[in-house]
Amino acid sequence: MATKLEYIWLDGYKPTQSLRSKTKIESDFSGKLEDCPLWSFDGSSTEQAPGGSSDCILKPVYICADPQRKDAFLVMCEVLDSTGAAHESNGRALIQDDDNDFWFGFEQEYFLWDPKTNKPLGFPEGGYPGPQGPYYCSVGANNAFGREIVEEHLDVCLEAGLNVEGINAEVAAGQWEFQIFAKGAKEAGDQIWVARYLLERIGESYGVSINWHCKPLGALDWNGSGMHANFSNTLLRTAASQATYTKILEAFRPAEVVAEHIAVYGADNHLRLTGKHETASINDYSYGVSDRGASIRIPLYTVQKGWSGYLEDRRPNSAADPYKVAAVIIKTVKSAKL
Ligand code: ADP
Ligand code: MN
Ligand code: MN
Ligand code: MN
Repeated sequence: MATKLEYIWLDGYKPTQSLRSKTKIESDFSGKLEDCPLWSFDGSSTEQAPGGSSDCILKPVYICADPQRKDAFLVMCEVLDSTGAAHESNGRALIQDDDNDFWFGFEQEYFLWDPKTNKPLGFPEGGYPGPQGPYYCSVGANNAFGREIVEEHLDVCLEAGLNVEGINAEVAAGQWEFQIFAKGAKEAGDQIWVARYLLERIGESYGVSINWHCKPLGALDWNGSGMHANFSNTLLRTAASQATYTKILEAFRPAEVVAEHIAVYGADNHLRLTGKHETASINDYSYGVSDRGASIRIPLYTVQKGWSGYLEDRRPNSAADPYKVAAVIIKTVKSAKL
């Protein structure tokens, strides 16, 4: 039997990488990752190699069912250069010590976007809908726009086996969120990228594009889009100590550490991290219990469990690469002087 394997990878565009994919037909495929062969592509068409020596290698790293195609799988891949080393565009390779001790829950926000009006769904042609307020977690045709796309995406993600934990309509009109949680930084990143791929593909059939930009409506009074990173390791989950939390949170404070994080928290984040619209200023570092205006929020859950739980870095934006976000968070948590 012929099986369709959709090999998915990230291109080399800067500052924001995009999804690319192509289909490989295999016969008598087992369905297992280890039976997905290496493959190659033309890196000169994706800003990953010069034309004279254009081959890059696709290394399969995550597989799941493709519920929207007959006899098909989705195969997330890392990009290797022609020598077999991790390509410089390969953020997944930055994740060290992936022993599954780190758990990540990403909250992916995005806008459903009408390519004809170049506005979010729900925005009238040549104008604006009413101000923010009624859209967040809304129901009804006046306030919730594009639900059929969001519902289809949720069903397809669950059928594929992705660990989606929830969805909600967001603060701006046409803005939505899904949450994905995984035990293991690489798997959390893999699942976010596959979920983004599925959303983009579903959008095609509605003539709706996905706008991942963190501030697509500019400086107007509309929320931007984030990708809050909720994280924990065994220490954070079992600390039972405010002092331990403080030491870890202080490891994020030095200016050079802030800069290292902001560098991978998504393009144009200065437009979003203004100190307004439930964000902290890009120039500051702060943390606080339940504080949605802080860089890192300590969820009430963590305090109520006697300082055992997780933290939420609210700075990563909707277009950030979850692999790079996870890699730098792991590095900084591990650097804490306990
Ligand atoms: P909010 O919108 O209030 O910030 P959400 O419910 O959208 O919160 O997202 C919270 C995320 O935190 C979920 O994706 C969840 O999986 C994640 N999370 C919960 N516990 C942990 C934990 N121990 N480690 C990492 N992530 C966690
Ligand atoms: Mn949320
Ligand atoms: Mn949100
Ligand atoms: Mn959040």
